[in-house]
Amino acid sequence: MTQATLSQTSTAGSSIVPENVKSFTPSDISRIFPAQKTKALELRLSTAKERITKLKKLKATIFKYQDEIQKALYSDFQKSAREVDISEILPSIAEINDSIRHLKHWMRPVNVSTPQTLIGSTSKIVYEPKGVCLIIAPWNYPFHLAIAPLAAAISAGNTVMLKPSEFTPKTATVLKVMLSEIFSENEVAVFEGDVSVSTALLEQPFDHIFFTGSTPVGKIVMAAAAKNLTTVTLELGGKSPTVVAEDADLKLTAERVMWGKFLNAGQTCVAPDYLLLPKSKVDAFVGYAKEATEKFFNAKEDGFAENRDFCRIINNKNFGRVSSYIEDAVQKGAKVAYGGKVNGNENFIAPTVLVDVPLHARIMEDEIFGPLLPIVTYDSLDEAIGIINSKPKPLALYIFTDRSKTAKYILKRTSSGGAVVNDVILHLVNSNLPFGGVNHSGHGSYHGLFGFKAFSHERSVLQTPKLSIVKMMYPPYTGFVKFIVDFTTKWFV
Ligand code: NAD
Repeated sequence: MTQATLSQTSTAGSSIVPENVKSFTPSDISRIFPAQKTKALELRLSTAKERITKLKKLKATIFKYQDEIQKALYSDFQKSAREVDISEILPSIAEINDSIRHLKHWMRPVNVSTPQTLIGSTSKIVYEPKGVCLIIAPWNYPFHLAIAPLAAAISAGNTVMLKPSEFTPKTATVLKVMLSEIFSENEVAVFEGDVSVSTALLEQPFDHIFFTGSTPVGKIVMAAAAKNLTTVTLELGGKSPTVVAEDADLKLTAERVMWGKFLNAGQTCVAPDYLLLPKSKVDAFVGYAKEATEKFFNAKEDGFAENRDFCRIINNKNFGRVSSYIEDAVQKGAKVAYGGKVNGNENFIAPTVLVDVPLHARIMEDEIFGPLLPIVTYDSLDEAIGIINSKPKPLALYIFTDRSKTAKYILKRTSSGGAVVNDVILHLVNSNLPFGGVNHSGHGSYHGLFGFKAFSHERSVLQTPKLSIVKMMYPPYTGFVKFIVDFTTKWFV
């Protein structure tokens, strides 16, 4: 094992995270994986009460480390403490609480009806833990997107090997310290490190892999899982469109879209990626968008760089990628209607709105994942729907309209992981809704019961009596068997 040095976050004050934290390397996998296999057999017998005790410990530990989590995220990409509370801690606690409240009920076998052909038998679905699970997390919500699937995996009775992103190393270390306080490595083990660590982990025959990240890496994960026929949940990204109908309340739309776009500086998987707007509404929308953005960050155009509530682009590579979208779009005919300031020394990109954006600009091809809002205009709803359907199915679709008929019209003609009418992002707050993508934006879902199911195998159990009418269909296939089969086919199935 090697020592990973954690030079503590820049914020002053004593820390409960130690200076030197031992980091697992790929060579530790061969020890931890079989140990987790053994532990997983034990956990199959764990009761709801025992799992709830673990979830409660996890919750208490998050509160204990709340300051450290805030400091780590500020250090990783200047994410403000309030935004950490809102988008990392709060949804993690909500997910844990949901499991604590409902786990006993979720774990109960579900009795289902039995066809008349099996008369006298009983049928039920039993939820069993998948076993040893791998969770790979991204950097954009590095705490929540590690903890939410972890809580689901624990609820379902699994062991977990967790790989946080290398781009948020301070958060990864806090996760490691925090989780090793509650769990032994044979139950939950955190592997810090880069792609080489992910690659080594992916060679193991896990019972389930839960991956959150980009679509291209999702394909790599799925291919690696296929070698062991491991099931996967893929929570991926994509370009989530926002359609603004003629009748939409523009001021409200602008406020909600700008909030969703500039949260985490646009580095949100379900951020409204681009806007489809009737031509006649562009000037009014841009005016409201400017007003809302300046109100949120209490800043005029030059003041955003100083505002500590507006976070940075994660690293120089992504800064280069996102800022190049502005240059490329402008070269191809777009205009910067608002913002446009960038500073490579600080990975800073100001909230930016672009108009007259052509569909062949790169900003309309790649997932933006930054604080840029391109506006594309349309003449008819069918044209807007055509633009959405010309791209891979997105993770989310947002529709702003006062007419439910318009919302239904768009929803029926498009597909997306989730959708919200008259707001953005908030569908993921309701754990009664499955959260996930479709095709290019992901496979499977989680949150609440859906998370429990993602980490469980739904096992069918049929119990039959000694007397069974199926016996009448055993060979030899006499005329009587033919009569019984014909009769059953006609009257009993
Ligand atoms: P990423 O795919 O680059 O990395 C995600 C994780 O995969 C990291 O832990 C990384 O170390 C690992 N990884 C990277 N390359 C790998 C490889 N070749 N083999 C194995 N593992 C590898 O994604 P990211 O940049 O961290 O996150 C941004 C992306 O994630 C965006 O596309 C965003 O839309 C998506 N995302 C989706 C959701 C969701 O819930 N659907 C949530 C957040 C982010």
